[in-house]
Amino acid sequence: MPEHNADLVILGGGSGGYACALRAAELGLSVVLVERDKLGGTCLHWGCIPTKALLHAAEVADAARDGDKVGVKSSLAGIDMAGVNAYKDGVVTKLYKGLQGLVKSRKIELVAGAGRFVAPNAVEVDGDRYVGEHVVLATGSYARSLPGLEIGGRIITSNEAIGLDAVPERVVVLGGGVIGVEFASVFRSFGAQVTVVEALPRLVPAEDEFCSKQLERAFRRRGIGFKTGVKFTGARQSEYAVTVSLESGEDLEADLLLVAVGRGPNTAGQGFEEAGIGMERGFVQVDERLRTNLDNVYALGDIVAGLQLAHRGFAQGIFVAEQIAGLDPVVIDEAGIPRVTYCEPEVASVGLTEAEAKERYGAVSTVVYDLAGNGRSQILQTQGAIKLVRQGGPDEPGPVVGVHMVGARVGELIGEAQLVYNWDAYADDVAALIHAHPTQNEAFGEAHLALAGKPLHAHG
Ligand SMILES: Cc1cc2nc3c(=O)[nH]c(=O)nc-3n(C[C@H](O)[C@H](O)[C@H](O)COP(=O)(O)OP(=O)(O)OC[C@H]3O[C@@H](n4cnc5c(N)ncnc54)[C@H](O)[C@@H]3O)c2cc1C
Repeated sequence: MPEHNADLVILGGGSGGYACALRAAELGLSVVLVERDKLGGTCLHWGCIPTKALLHAAEVADAARDGDKVGVKSSLAGIDMAGVNAYKDGVVTKLYKGLQGLVKSRKIELVAGAGRFVAPNAVEVDGDRYVGEHVVLATGSYARSLPGLEIGGRIITSNEAIGLDAVPERVVVLGGGVIGVEFASVFRSFGAQVTVVEALPRLVPAEDEFCSKQLERAFRRRGIGFKTGVKFTGARQSEYAVTVSLESGEDLEADLLLVAVGRGPNTAGQGFEEAGIGMERGFVQVDERLRTNLDNVYALGDIVAGLQLAHRGFAQGIFVAEQIAGLDPVVIDEAGIPRVTYCEPEVASVGLTEAEAKERYGAVSTVVYDLAGNGRSQILQTQGAIKLVRQGGPDEPGPVVGVHMVGARVGELIGEAQLVYNWDAYADDVAALIHAHPTQNEAFGEAHLALAGKPLHAHG
């Protein structure tokens, strides 16, 4: 069997794998990157980028429909899905070409094919053996379903939802997490009747309860139906419709059922267990430096339990490359990874929820700044609020340990929010900084003014 040697062999060319490859090559290591589908992985081809393009088209549709609210005569003549898909695919193609060029320019050996982890230092691809001083596992995730719920026909996952050729009239979205509410938002903007079904008591259940309440209020205003705290019991489809049954005894009829119940680690059949890698519930077990139990074998991205986000994969990829190159990078604080849900309105957060902060620190104090007091948000006609969670009570104020925001475009505010959390800033530190007027960013500054005890455009 032909054998190839490199400093680093990476299995999986998604966000985590390719970021690791790019940084390792930058640091002078020879790198083999094995990818069985398309370089860029889920994020570029099936996830972040195509869905955000759909959400942008949805925003344009809403603007056309609502022009008269600001005195602009406009109306929405319809959604041309072929046009939407061409726009979306154009964005993906451009980024894909750019990424391919980048990988080539760093002299990374990209091997096209399905690899298998056959030994602690080797991956086999189509009869060739790639031996690395170090091996990184980055095989990503797949769309989960529920027992007895088969994907096909009118029952789809996000993989099919990003490429629909027509807007369905009625959609049931199973799962009120990030992916579910983003698609619910797109479908509604495109004119569909939407019902989200979530087994837990609230939408976006991983977020602070405050975000769920704000989002639910906004979804009600937008006419997006949702049923929380109710379990799905089954679905059956005919030529004309899909019927979704709930534990409450209710049946919901729709044209499509989108299953968005989370993503499972892509670890089965990869050779991991056979080679002796420690696993837990299908995820690869790692320590805080992303080392598996086998020497010189690392794992990162969606196959490692935790937040399944592209920028976590990027950060972990860079971390592992630097670790291998002997740079001793700083361990990643999972809570310091920013989280954005790009529905309308957006939900953005970093750090701890109030409940988590109470559990960790005991005393906490919070402030909620309503976007009603923010000029830019009023111009954009968005509603929502920013909640800050601070360690310690009012007499002994500590740093800000959680930021939670809901409103149009608040995802763009997460950059400053993550600096505040990750740099252990106090409310006074941020209150002293000047935020431009009128921006939505100003609301972030005002929230800190309020937390520092000197509210400006807010009731004290
Ligand atoms: C609908 C949707 C929307 C999303 N939106 C966002 C968002 O807005 N922001 C965000 O941060 N995250 C988002 N995500 C999550 C994000 O896409 C993932 O967290 C990210 O892609 C994980 O990167 P990864 O490298 O771990 O895995 P992946 O991107 O899944 O890459 C793994 C790669 O490994 C390859 N592979 C697997 N097995 C083998 C093998 N045996 N041989 C060779 N190659 C193999 C796969 O083909 C794949 O390309 C979204 C996900 C979805 C599904």
